[in-house]
Amino acid sequence: MSNVDTAEIANFDRLAASWWDPQGEMGALHVINAPRVRYIGDCAGGIAGKRAIDIGCGGGLLSEALSAAGADVTGIDMAGEVLEVARHHAGATGRDIDYRQISAEQMAEAHPGEFDLVCCLEMLEHVPDPASVVDACATLVRPGGDVVFSTINRNPKSFALMVVGAEYVVNIVPRGTHQYEKFIRPSELDAWARGAGLEVVGVRGIRYNPVLRAANLSDDIAVNYLMHCRRPA
Ligand code: SAH
Repeated sequence: MSNVDTAEIANFDRLAASWWDPQGEMGALHVINAPRVRYIGDCAGGIAGKRAIDIGCGGGLLSEALSAAGADVTGIDMAGEVLEVARHHAGATGRDIDYRQISAEQMAEAHPGEFDLVCCLEMLEHVPDPASVVDACATLVRPGGDVVFSTINRNPKSFALMVVGAEYVVNIVPRGTHQYEKFIRPSELDAWARGAGLEVVGVRGIRYNPVLRAANLSDDIAVNYLMHCRRPA
């Protein structure tokens, strides 16, 4: 059975055309991109020269940023129309990125241990079996390499901010994007990562200010957070 929710994929395909519009429906991803790239760079001890894979790459916001920072980037996603946008945009900006429509699990089977850096941002809360994706990420990374996840915590505050606030009050995230029950507590992600043989190195929050349309790294992991893991050498 494949670990893909076709309703989720259809929903992202519907958003494909506006992916690169900073004022569009994916605007919040544009705002959080810079701080998360900074975090990834710190985690990996620099991005230049790394073989990196972006799992659930979408239209390529992170993939292009990693490529611009000097990584050799593969981006995978299951949404075909979104990938077309990613390929088109990379062509227009002159970024040489290998975009593929393949699941994380299939990619892991074909390319175990081939990547220095595995990133899987804002994707785990959209799949039926997130632990299986975490396993795939742990297989893709080489011994001693880094894995960075990001997702949304599950608690009353994240419900209030990410579902009610973001989708219904300030309308910075398209309605129906997030299902509360699929949010992931850091303790759960930590357990899946350890279960997959990864060490958990650190966790950091992303604070998003919808009024200023600004974001920065924060110690508050109650809503959006990043987790840095490493495969033991
Ligand atoms: N990681 C990107 C996009 C986040 S949106 C970023 O943070 O900028 C979530 C993405 O995950 C969408 O592009 C969606 O198509 C993708 N996705 C959802 N389920 C998936 C699956 N099972 N396999 C691969 N990609 C998936």
